[in-house]
Amino acid sequence: MIKHVTAVTLGLLLWGSAAVAQTVYPIDRAEILSGAQFDFKVEFPDKVDPAKLKVTLNGQDYAAAFGRTGTFVEREEGKDQSALLLRDVALSAPGPVAVEVSDGARSRKVTWTVYDTPPRKAKNVILFIGDGMSLSHRVAARLLSKGISEGKSLGKLAMDDMPHMALVATAGSDSIITDSANSASAYSTGHKSAVNAMGVYADRTRDAFDDPRVETITSLAKRKLKMAIGIVTNTEIEDATPAAMVAHTRRRAAYDEIVEQYFAAKPDVLLGGGTANFLPKASSGSKRKDDVDYIARFREAGYMVATTAGELNTVAAKPETRQLLGLFAAGNMDGVLDRKFLKGGGVKKFPEQPDLTEQVQAALTVLSRNEAGFFLMVESGMIDKYAHLLDMERAVYDTIMLDNAVRLAKDWAGKRGNDTLILVVSDHSHPNSLVGTINDDMSSTPNVPFRERVGVYEKAGFPNYPAPDADGYPSRVDVSRRIAIFSASLPDHYETFRPKLDDPNEPTTKGDDAGTFKANDKYKDVPGAVLRPGNLPAMVGASVHSGEDVILTAIGPGSERVKGSMDNTEVFRVMVDALGLGAVGQ
Ligand SMILES: [Zn+2]
Repeated sequence: MIKHVTAVTLGLLLWGSAAVAQTVYPIDRAEILSGAQFDFKVEFPDKVDPAKLKVTLNGQDYAAAFGRTGTFVEREEGKDQSALLLRDVALSAPGPVAVEVSDGARSRKVTWTVYDTPPRKAKNVILFIGDGMSLSHRVAARLLSKGISEGKSLGKLAMDDMPHMALVATAGSDSIITDSANSASAYSTGHKSAVNAMGVYADRTRDAFDDPRVETITSLAKRKLKMAIGIVTNTEIEDATPAAMVAHTRRRAAYDEIVEQYFAAKPDVLLGGGTANFLPKASSGSKRKDDVDYIARFREAGYMVATTAGELNTVAAKPETRQLLGLFAAGNMDGVLDRKFLKGGGVKKFPEQPDLTEQVQAALTVLSRNEAGFFLMVESGMIDKYAHLLDMERAVYDTIMLDNAVRLAKDWAGKRGNDTLILVVSDHSHPNSLVGTINDDMSSTPNVPFRERVGVYEKAGFPNYPAPDADGYPSRVDVSRRIAIFSASLPDHYETFRPKLDDPNEPTTKGDDAGTFKANDKYKDVPGAVLRPGNLPAMVGASVHSGEDVILTAIGPGSERVKGSMDNTEVFRVMVDALGLGAVGQ
């Protein structure tokens, strides 16, 4: 009993002292690339007398260590809370850095590690991100695109057929569950961040654009090595994963400002959906809040612009094209199952969207015109959107599409003599599991509930999709023995045990209370459908991300660093190592 009380009291004490200590950005145990820029900020819990302020790095006054004095804010946001801010600093000497902050009454110590890199060994880096790609998507993609006989796969995915593999932990600075903003930010900056934030540490102020920034790999590659930069996705180009390659904001939903940041950063190749936030507000279909025409601006800045697959191929083939903007849908582009087979989703409205492989081919053609090499991020982003919507077939088809794009890049790099580091990774998992098959023929009784047709263990057997076409896609998903992938995180919804052949699944609609969701009645009368009561709060209208590790595979110069158990911030380190971005003299 006494022991118990002591533990509780100690817990409260620790909590109490942590709540009043100063907050230092970058955070404790941050790893900082030599020469990379970052903003240094100290947040004091109350008003501080600047005369009593002492901030040191390895015992040296911070102003001497950084070469500059910071801005002292006595009352941040009009409250009795002071702050010290110093933007765009860098440290070059590798080793531990003890940062000690004292206001005369309280003190805090954090330790950073500054690291350098060996000399450059890769000319180019291609980072493939299967957004939300889970192990089940990957295994199902292998089953459908390669086939299986007597338990042995008839082929390997291009992303599996790589010499180096690691498990990557994905937690963010504020939660064990990451979103696509802070997870992509970990890859692009090597720093942890919070949900909805990218390229910054999320500080306490309300402003979504004043948070302490950290430099992205695209900025480093351009600034230090004059490399070309490519960002390719099939979601809105403003969405978290592509945006995190360049942007700095606490709020991933700030699409207008993200477009402005793209324009300021000028990536050489920018391909995806999301036209709506490039158009002035007077244009039909615009989602901008101002009158700026960013497509016109990019054109004036020298960009070639493509809006269809045909234009993309034509424009990329022109030898003079060095900068390319391709926007192929107002919002997200459509997945390959809709584009190639079902013609659902937005395909009727935007019938000429390119495939991710065509986008990657165009990007490689244009980017390789830069003699200094390139960094290219390619996202198959709809895997995640479909996983949220419990639309498993569409997620799996977009995983096959990602693999086709990976194979294209591997073949391209192989022909050049392997001067390119290629990484394939997910940014976070979804709680999706492959549990068996759904067998229409398991019962001859017409009214047997559909769950009785879920084949597990030996009753799962093997699915009977038609043999895949040359691109690895079976021509039909509504076969009589199909993969059963179920999510462990569920909103209330009707489970139909069938693929959605018209449009992507819409499991929920707005609920009766504000901000809540309920099962979508659209599927209520599908024969065999059952109402599945959710296990998530009613405010959550879709399946959610999960906190398991994701798989990273790699090939090419520098890929040998990919092994064992890694943190997501280390993916950045693998890339900057290969490019020598922290090498002496860079
Ligand atoms: Zn994601």
